[in-house]
Amino acid sequence: MHGYNHFIDGEKSDLPLGKIVCVGRNYAAHARELNNPLPTSPVLFIKPNTALTAIDPQIIIPTALGECHFETEMSLLIGKQLCHCNENEATAAIAGVGLSLDLTLRDIQQDLKDSGLPWEKAKAFDGACPSSAFISQAQAGDLQNQKIRLYKNGQLHQDGNTSDMLNPVLPLLTYISQFFTLLPGDMVLTGTPAGVGPLQVGDKLVLELSDLIHCETEVISA
Ligand code: ZN
Repeated sequence: MHGYNHFIDGEKSDLPLGKIVCVGRNYAAHARELNNPLPTSPVLFIKPNTALTAIDPQIIIPTALGECHFETEMSLLIGKQLCHCNENEATAAIAGVGLSLDLTLRDIQQDLKDSGLPWEKAKAFDGACPSSAFISQAQAGDLQNQKIRLYKNGQLHQDGNTSDMLNPVLPLLTYISQFFTLLPGDMVLTGTPAGVGPLQVGDKLVLELSDLIHCETEVISA
């Protein structure tokens, strides 16, 4: 989180850096590619604010902890408190829409899953949530019709659309708010479409949310 600030429509935001609530397996094709069953209710986990870092011009990955996978996700910046909220309250609380990488130490996660243990070490490590600047909802338009693309070294690896979410944004926010109060400055990551894979030092990434957000970055080691 060192040096990271939230930006909305190009302006530095006063919102603090809060927790990041994430949903796993929110796209059926991604659940299938990891041989996970489709969940009957949303799978939630949290990254602390120490996971936040800017997505460009460089991202740092751990290099001695097995494979570190990219998962490209539409992220939401929360501007108002949400607790047991309804969908109207959820809509009014979305202060920004962005792109984040849910970096995942896949080998460590697999070991933890195999042992029936929580995933924190694989998902919540320092720098595990590189994030773009945000745009306002007014700029973003329909949140359930956004293309999510990730190119690695010029090759298209992820090519999804938020219309394929199993839990769309508003039901997801209302569900999350039954368990975790969302505070101004918190973020929500809405899950990754299929096509995830490992990162190597030196990889060059291009990430896009429709034609609204475009980030170029390079993977470096700590
Ligand atoms: Zn994810």
